[in-house]
Amino acid sequence: MPTTEPFYRKALDAIEHHIAIIDHNGTIRFVNQAWIQFADSINEQHHWLGYSYWKLFNNNEVVVPQLQRLLAGEQEQFQHEYCFHSEQQQRWYLLTANPMEWQGQRLVLVSHCDITAQKNTEQQVRELTLQDSLTTLPNRRHFTQFFDQEWRRGARQQQPLSLLLLDIDRFKWYNDSYGHQQGDRCLQQIAGLLSQFAQRPGDLMARYGGEEFVLVLANTPASAAQRIAEKLVEAVNKLQIPHQDVGPDPIVTVSIGVATQIPQPDLEQAQLFKAADLALYQAKKQGRNRFAYADLN
Ligand code: GH3
Ligand code: MG
Ligand code: MG
Repeated sequence: MPTTEPFYRKALDAIEHHIAIIDHNGTIRFVNQAWIQFADSINEQHHWLGYSYWKLFNNNEVVVPQLQRLLAGEQEQFQHEYCFHSEQQQRWYLLTANPMEWQGQRLVLVSHCDITAQKNTEQQVRELTLQDSLTTLPNRRHFTQFFDQEWRRGARQQQPLSLLLLDIDRFKWYNDSYGHQQGDRCLQQIAGLLSQFAQRPGDLMARYGGEEFVLVLANTPASAAQRIAEKLVEAVNKLQIPHQDVGPDPIVTVSIGVATQIPQPDLEQAQLFKAADLALYQAKKQGRNRFAYADLN
């Protein structure tokens, strides 16, 4: 096996990661073929050879001090994930830096590995864990996180938070009459409609479970929440999904419980949820296909 310099050069050029070696000043002294190809692809013809690695990283306040610690012998390895988004593509990289000794000088070898595919997969998994698979609406876990976050924001800003609990009426009968698969399609159709009611960043429509949905409305007073509930009941009516033998209009309907509260640090958010649940029970008792409001004050 040859052990000459051209051999090692070839070996470094065969590595797919973008590799550079920087000296004690942060000047780039060596780059491999993958680094050159990447620089060419973004029209950096000088390949940054002889340039400052600190400037390349815009004097990044995490990267530069850490690499300086490596060069000073105060640290043995450093890893850092960063994004490099051009107009054409969004890419993620993992920077790994290790020190090396050469002729009495301490240098640092930096390697940049493209982790875009892994990052995209991580993002997809994160999204899937927060999504209901049947309806693609946010799931109960997502609701819990969101409700908690908006509750705390509402307490800080002393803004009213509204909660709407929706339940499809007589859905057991629907399944019994039309079968479970048709029941699933009905849930999907209703979910598609409901999702249109979460418009602002502070709104979230989630499938709470079964045939129950929940709408969080941040910074929304009781009057506005009740108007939205009314519109929701009407919108589901307008879908005109046939439902045999139910009431005067044989169509699928929903009942909604509405509750509003200005969150307080000494109050529990569960109280608001319980109030909406109680209001939902009232709406069912009063004949379904309507909303009821729980006054918490
Ligand atoms: P109410 O008007 O009082 O709400 O009556 P209901 O029949 O809707 O209430 P109940 O809780 O007795 O029944 C809910 C039904 O929802 C029972 C269950 O079979 C159905 N369901 C729950 N999840 C799903 C689902 O994912 N797919 C289908 N097809 N049905 C579901
Ligand atoms: Mg139910
Ligand atoms: Mg129901």
